[in-house]
Amino acid sequence: MSDITVCCSRCGAEHSASVPQSVNVATDPDLKEKVRSGELFTWQCPHCGAANLLQVPFLYHDPNERLMLVLTDAPLGAEGLPEGYTGRIVRTVGDLIEKIKIFDAGLDDLVVEMCKFVTCQELKKDVPLRFVRTDGADAEMTFAYPEKGEMQLVAVGFNVYEDCAAILQRNPHIRSSALGLVTIDQAWLSRYFQ
Ligand SMILES: [Zn+2]
Repeated sequence: MSDITVCCSRCGAEHSASVPQSVNVATDPDLKEKVRSGELFTWQCPHCGAANLLQVPFLYHDPNERLMLVLTDAPLGAEGLPEGYTGRIVRTVGDLIEKIKIFDAGLDDLVVEMCKFVTCQELKKDVPLRFVRTDGADAEMTFAYPEKGEMQLVAVGFNVYEDCAAILQRNPHIRSSALGLVTIDQAWLSRYFQ
């Protein structure tokens, strides 16, 4: 835990807040749920009641899945990632939660980014899609995107996931660029697909 000073985005009042800097989800499943729900990163201002989002560096470690998710805005290299681990750098709390959902669902985040790309083309929209959920193995995936101030949901069949997985299999250089601690998002994918 570290004590930091936070500043309310609405009224500007300052408070001190205790913030965990990491979670080992094998030893602290309750904390994992607070990360996954976003609760850990929100605080309510005692002066004006506004809900605020904390933007702090955070390490999410799942030793069973050999997964490390690093929330940071600092540039990071692959050093320090244990052998055999999947490492991802995320820039926002929303990105962190999305990655947790993808890995918890047993999905491959490279394939999911590819699915987003394909789905945007299908929708003929350039929107930031977020993975929301899947209803079990081989089931439809649900993505969300903002439009006219509301969240729209779009269902994507598992066949799209399988097609995207096949494309990645035929292009092994894409996967080999995702070793170490890397950011896997639409910007990353756009290096390979336009
Ligand atoms: Zn306030």
